[in-house]
Amino acid sequence: MDKLVFATNNAHKLDEVRAILGSDVEVLSLNDIGCNADIPETADTLEGNALLKARFVASRYGVDCFADDTGLEVAALGGAPGVYSARFAGPACDSAENVRKLLGLLHDADDRSARFRTVVALIRGGEEHCFEGTVGGTIARTPAGCGGFGYDPVFVPEGHDRTFAELPPAEKNRISHRARAVAKLADFLRGKE
Ligand code: IMP
Repeated sequence: MDKLVFATNNAHKLDEVRAILGSDVEVLSLNDIGCNADIPETADTLEGNALLKARFVASRYGVDCFADDTGLEVAALGGAPGVYSARFAGPACDSAENVRKLLGLLHDADDRSARFRTVVALIRGGEEHCFEGTVGGTIARTPAGCGGFGYDPVFVPEGHDRTFAELPPAEKNRISHRARAVAKLADFLRGKE
């Protein structure tokens, strides 16, 4: 069985990724390899950050690994918050403050189109590969729902009339940006791409 380190300790992400990759690949977390380093995320693109994290782990631990980075890209804000999604309202801010800032900036804008974009960077046998997954949608005028995390309460995915935070987790995981990027990784690992 192939072994790959996923450069995260987020249990939710690990579960989601293990379910998509199936039994062909054993996915180890950072904890599993004894890594508790603060991995740099200083690039100004999602691709750059995903590669930084994957390179850090691959070079220090001599393992094949992958890392992800995600951003919410809002058309009326020129693609912001993008790579800065986690700290949009400031370095110490939580999701509620990020959402408040987003709704404030959009105010009553008519164009509320947005997308989540995830980049997964894989380093295997010293070679680098990137996979992208996106889901389009719109930003709601007020938050709704209590599932998920981050910007979920204000993101209504295309083809739905409820926010990600209102959808059952299995439905979000079926159509999400992250699931789509990881599905491409899975195809690549199975030699389908
Ligand atoms: P990360 O790269 O997965 O850590 O994501 C960076 C930031 O994007 C998070 O802190 C969230 O604010 C936002 N984000 C990522 N994925 C999601 C999602 O599935 N729903 C809502 N917000 C997300």
